[in-house]
Amino acid sequence: MIKLILLDRDGVINKEMGAYVTNPNDFEVLPHVVPNLIKLKNAGIQVVVITNQGGIAKDLYTHQTLAKIHQKLNLILEAHQLTFDEVYYCPHHPDYGKCLCRKPGSIMIEKALARFGVNPQEAIMIGDTQRDIEAANAARVMAFKIESNQDWSSIIDEILAY
Ligand SMILES: [Mg+2]
Ligand SMILES: [Zn+2]
Repeated sequence: MIKLILLDRDGVINKEMGAYVTNPNDFEVLPHVVPNLIKLKNAGIQVVVITNQGGIAKDLYTHQTLAKIHQKLNLILEAHQLTFDEVYYCPHHPDYGKCLCRKPGSIMIEKALARFGVNPQEAIMIGDTQRDIEAANAARVMAFKIESNQDWSSIIDEILAY
């Protein structure tokens, strides 16, 4: 039984623009997100965001700006009585030093599994890049790769029908 859904952010939750999201105005939530989060909430499945935000290491935006962007996201969700159970982000970038958390590393995913007491087989990752899939697989979590901005409702429906 699936207990935890791990979502990449850019291209899965908000529209991938081919560039870093550096301010809240550029952050556009995809239309299928809220309906799917409602279904997951009703099924008692927790949802965690796992995102690389290397633009912070590149000084394109700050932790504070990222917090504002996520505040915008939260307000949209709160309007539907929804919330993410946790958001994990890696602010590092390999051009500016090594880190262990950046996907395809699996540490953020392992943190989520530990925090919510979920086995890898009870979690599923949805992402739009190969490194999302690699990160999940490194944590022995099954992953679905979608196209950027693709509607992932059918994946959720399949999980819930199981
Ligand atoms: Mg992405
Ligand atoms: Zn990192």
